[in-house]
Amino acid sequence: MARPLFQALPGTRDLLPPDTDRMRDLVVRFADQAIAAGFGHVIPPMFEDVGVFVRLGAASDIVSKELYDFEDKGGRRIALRPEQTASVCRIYAEARPTTPWKAWYAGPNFRYDKPQAGRYRQFDQVGAEVIGSHDPDVDVELIALAARFFEGLGITKVRLLLNSLGDAADRPRYLDALRAHFEADLGALSEQSRQTLMTNPLRVLDSKRPQDAALVSAAPLITDFLSDAASTAFDRVQGGLRTLGVGFELAPRLVRGLDYYTRTTFEFAADSLESAQNAIGGGGRYDGLIADLGGPPDPGVGFALGVDRTLLACDAEGCFAGPSTGVEVWIVSTTGGYEATEAADELRTAGVRTDRSFDARSMKAQMKSADRSGAPLAVIIGADEAADGMVSIRPLREQAAQQLLVPRSDLVAKVKEMLEQ
Ligand code: AMP
Repeated sequence: MARPLFQALPGTRDLLPPDTDRMRDLVVRFADQAIAAGFGHVIPPMFEDVGVFVRLGAASDIVSKELYDFEDKGGRRIALRPEQTASVCRIYAEARPTTPWKAWYAGPNFRYDKPQAGRYRQFDQVGAEVIGSHDPDVDVELIALAARFFEGLGITKVRLLLNSLGDAADRPRYLDALRAHFEADLGALSEQSRQTLMTNPLRVLDSKRPQDAALVSAAPLITDFLSDAASTAFDRVQGGLRTLGVGFELAPRLVRGLDYYTRTTFEFAADSLESAQNAIGGGGRYDGLIADLGGPPDPGVGFALGVDRTLLACDAEGCFAGPSTGVEVWIVSTTGGYEATEAADELRTAGVRTDRSFDARSMKAQMKSADRSGAPLAVIIGADEAADGMVSIRPLREQAAQQLLVPRSDLVAKVKEMLEQ
């Protein structure tokens, strides 16, 4: 076969059934659970003024290296969203809904990342945010929402990693201690980590390079620098999770990719996936982000789950096969009239998944299509049946089953009855 002129770009994928059916079902499940917890659906635009995302932290890779930004025809500096928390905060600052404001979302994000399994340039997330409350019970509610969602899909090999990054005032003391720790043995640190140390010392803790392992594991812990208020809040979060039976591991080196986090941070790690891409979701508090976007100094907390990676984790565990969306009835008609058109319309309106042959093909060719479709039933309307006001229904998947001749007016009821058997 000749190569097509165009192919999907690196880091993008064409999704087709059954993957699309599964993805849609996953989003519907998430939506149902979020709505049951009082969250409203928001749909932020896919692109924003680049400034909205720069507030996420100029030192983070997502902003400094991975942003799809460009100038539009009106001379505006635009970026495709790399995530949706910043947009949700921008919406909040603009619309000023009553608080606490609980919003959920689903949709694609764009990052100029290095494509590999589980890492794409366009990827989907579902997420939820609560803006306007300092209450750590909100953190518990959000974490439980994510944990129950994974549970509902049947994922068992997932660990919840939990940390507190303290308040904005705790951070400088910790960063000083961290810098002092690494600078005392700078020669032992990898070249990349030395660079990172200058721009964003917290991110050095994220280094997976073996050369850095010893220094990273001996680094001071943020949990030793928490203010009393941050520490009490963190205890309350842990107590809430224990009450709900949501298991977690304390992860004092968990810093995550964006700079805006304060207090609670968390990540869900799927043990069935490669460790470099095993984060299937994460989130935390961002008590300064809304003010950074020019809004009121209101706190926020939220999470985003990676849809593509969650589905990979389901594959790895053999769970959540997705719904069956195959056609249930195939209509075969050789009358040349509108019988197939009418019957298909009627069955579809009654909620029966129905397809049919076109192009006036022979009975034999149409029966072959019916067979290939996987439908359990064929509805056959020949000239004789049409003249008598009848239709035939033929089970296609059972050897012994008989073809039935039924009045045309009974078609829908009979088909439904046979599909239920
Ligand atoms: P983040 O916004 O970086 O905290 O990402 C939240 C979740 O989105 C991660 O835990 C991943 O599951 C998913 N994710 C992030 N980046 C990518 C990517 N490039 N490709 C696929 N999934 C991603």
